[in-house]
Amino acid sequence: MIRTRFAPSPTGYLHIGGVRTALFSWAFARKHAGTFVLRIEDTDLERSTPESVKAILDGMQWVGLAHDEGPFYQTHRFDRYKAVIQDMLAAGTAYHCYCSKEELDQMRAEAEARGEKPRYDRRWRPEAGKVLPTPPADVQPVVRFRNPLEGVVAWDDAVKGRIEISNQELDDLIIARGDGTPTYNFCVVVDDWDMGITHVIRGDDHVNNTPRQINILQALGAALPVYGHLPMILREDGQKMSKRRDAVSVVEYATMGILPEALLNYLARLGWGYGDAEFFTMDQFVEWFSLEGVSPSPSRFDKEKLLWLNAQHMKAADDNRLADLVAPRLADKGIGVDHGPALAAVISLVKERVQDLNALAGQCDYFYQKRTPSAEETAKHLDEASAARMKRFAAKLAALDSWTAESIHTLFKPFCEEEGIKMGQLGMPLRVTVCGTTQTPSIDAVLALIGKEAVLQRMA
Ligand code: GLU
Repeated sequence: MIRTRFAPSPTGYLHIGGVRTALFSWAFARKHAGTFVLRIEDTDLERSTPESVKAILDGMQWVGLAHDEGPFYQTHRFDRYKAVIQDMLAAGTAYHCYCSKEELDQMRAEAEARGEKPRYDRRWRPEAGKVLPTPPADVQPVVRFRNPLEGVVAWDDAVKGRIEISNQELDDLIIARGDGTPTYNFCVVVDDWDMGITHVIRGDDHVNNTPRQINILQALGAALPVYGHLPMILREDGQKMSKRRDAVSVVEYATMGILPEALLNYLARLGWGYGDAEFFTMDQFVEWFSLEGVSPSPSRFDKEKLLWLNAQHMKAADDNRLADLVAPRLADKGIGVDHGPALAAVISLVKERVQDLNALAGQCDYFYQKRTPSAEETAKHLDEASAARMKRFAAKLAALDSWTAESIHTLFKPFCEEEGIKMGQLGMPLRVTVCGTTQTPSIDAVLALIGKEAVLQRMA
């Protein structure tokens, strides 16, 4: 049984790199009829906040990546971590270290002076025949993992291929602090073990943690999961994304009027591909997804492409659902949609013209409330002659029995012939008069939706 997890640290909002990690873990579990676990890694008590936990849960809900188990919180599991630490101390795979901060600083300074990487000299590590110093009474010891001294840690990364690290590179990691609290890497290991995680899919900023985690898992006698490290998402110009300059929080995409399925489709394509498929549903993605299909090199964010995909998903989306998303955006501009045409019908008429929900709202306003036309448009399309012509056309409209795009359309040709004008000389003034803008779809369909009474009122 495949079990994957998404394990965010609640130290900020849910960012798009995190969403992509979650998406790939989720898709892998779905594809193999497995289980997707959500785990909140809140051991860093100083940096974790309840607001951030909420932002993560809300963000996951917005994108629609549902977990099967959890959310589990590391802060609820401290007793378990402490029990494992006791077991390891008893088994000799971990030991107490009483080094003071001063001693560690000194070790570091000496290593640096020799031009070496600073490392702990293992002075409290028990060895056969070694006499350990007497523990000082006033120091609360940390617990260190007894890392193997020789050999290599190797794994076949599902994305990056084979990775090998010499154990000589690895220190005896602190797994519990002086106050007894477990450290980050250790909690991850115990969780992945207890939660039966078979595939650890995460950002490649964690590659350096993996050999340490593998060593601890091995010391615990646990089966090793498959690891797959996903490359970073870079900005368009190849630089790292930054909070200040880039839209990194998932909420920003919601505000920008991106549909969640479009964001997921876009993120799926960032670093993963299936032939030349660009636009697809999450069901298709799950069917096609494989870790082998993930590219090991970083990908660049491309906003144009995101918007293009968003337009495709808006076209495919149910208009009633879009109406629920657009109505509050219109309300923000003081436009109510309770009177007037059904918003879904308006959306169906205009949605192919735009790429995001805000722009969509921007195309719906004049169905409810005439825009004030620009002086330029008025000057260009509503001179005295055409204004008088509008009055004559209003009379024709008023005389119509049935009010549909078709019946309105039948008026156009004879009226233009009568007046000796081209269709544009009717259509543009009519748009400016009724809508307050020339930028509308087919005017017969627009008039039909706005409704007879409102059209005649506006023309009057
Ligand atoms: N909590 C880590 C993070 O938010 C992820 C740890 C993991 O996936 O192993 O970056």
